[in-house]
Amino acid sequence: TDTSDLIRRTIRSVPDWPQPGVTFRDITPVLQDPHTFRRLIDVFVYRYMRQRLDLVACVDARGFIIGSALAYELNLGFVPVRKRGKLPFDTVSEEFVLEYGSATVEMHTDSVRPGQRVLLVDDLIATGGTMTAAIKLLQRLGANVLEAAAIIDLPELGGSKLIRDTGTPLFTICQFL
Ligand code: IMP
Repeated sequence: TDTSDLIRRTIRSVPDWPQPGVTFRDITPVLQDPHTFRRLIDVFVYRYMRQRLDLVACVDARGFIIGSALAYELNLGFVPVRKRGKLPFDTVSEEFVLEYGSATVEMHTDSVRPGQRVLLVDDLIATGGTMTAAIKLLQRLGANVLEAAAIIDLPELGGSKLIRDTGTPLFTICQFL
């Protein structure tokens, strides 16, 4: 569509960052332009406005930017999924493997009540490790994860397939091969 083309064209591709051979897809130009930022949030607003959701759960840190604007516009609560050690109250955590080493995501134990209908949001799906760990956390808390959503899918890294294989529907606005 026009909007996904606009967003895709506005995303900046930075070669060899954060390391040689990696191309970083940078969404800051999308956020910086008020028209493009609004069009981005509105894609999600129109997709989810008729779904009976309770919460938007978002991944630290770029997911927060999109997720908080979306939760506000949809009149939903916002719950953070954070990197280890950032949340002050009782937490549940889920470890996942990275290319080198591992990472952990955490949520507050009281951030979701069993049966709540949750949308999970992040900026980008690469290997899918982050999203998959966040889905597991949410499900351990009893959430009904209706869908996972991101701006960008890097399908060649297999993450979007991994997420869909776990049974959670996934929506992304654009792809980079
Ligand atoms: P995954 O866990 O391998 O799917 O990596 C996705 C996570 O890493 C997301 O939280 C992204 O914010 C971040 N990430 C990985 N690559 C990029 C990129 O090229 N641009 C922006 N974020 C990225």
